[in-house]
Amino acid sequence: MYSDDDLLMLSGIQHFAFCKRQWALIHVEQQWAENVKTTEGNHLHERVDDPMESDKRGKVITYRAFPLISYQLGLIGRADVVELIYTREGGVLLEGHEGRWLLHPVEYKRGKQKPDDRDAVQVCAQAICLEEMFNIEIPNGSLFYGETRRRVNVDFKLELRQTVFEHARRMHELFEKGITPLPVYKSHCKSCSLIDICLPQNLSGKIKASDYLRNELEKDL
Ligand code: SF4
Repeated sequence: MYSDDDLLMLSGIQHFAFCKRQWALIHVEQQWAENVKTTEGNHLHERVDDPMESDKRGKVITYRAFPLISYQLGLIGRADVVELIYTREGGVLLEGHEGRWLLHPVEYKRGKQKPDDRDAVQVCAQAICLEEMFNIEIPNGSLFYGETRRRVNVDFKLELRQTVFEHARRMHELFEKGITPLPVYKSHCKSCSLIDICLPQNLSGKIKASDYLRNELEKDL
């Protein structure tokens, strides 16, 4: 279990799943570069970031910018949306609402569904926070993509949960040691907002022996 002093930003887990160096540049070295994609993403989030604004449609209550914390993961942040869905069985009792409710996290993303699991990892981390906070089990959540206007279901299977815990563990290890992994130039670098700071084409293949050794040691963390 982590303490309050150890908590890292939950939203960083999507960066970590995309590229560990990108996460470290943002969260360890505090570097950031806005490009079109991050700006558009921010605008999409602005609509869902009014703290705790809620509305009710039928048997679903929508909470926006829902605060989250997990001491198992050592992460803190917010869910874009948590839907409370009325249920006759199971669920939780919530102050201010009669009956029992299932909790369903929804993460909003610009663009369309990606070929990797970074978005699923983020919404699963949100669910693990909610499970810890409310002592419940959450079987699935959703991702909403702004470009395609599609909502995609994400099942929180054991393998995905294990990936979340492993990413969180490594994030804490790298953060504690202040390690920024070295760049590895791949096709996804072309869409990375930090490419001008990271310089993967310049650095890949021109690595000093000491940095190479550090990178090899980091792989074993
Ligand atoms: S440019 Fe490539 S290696 Fe560098 S941070 Fe971005 S994705 Fe990672």
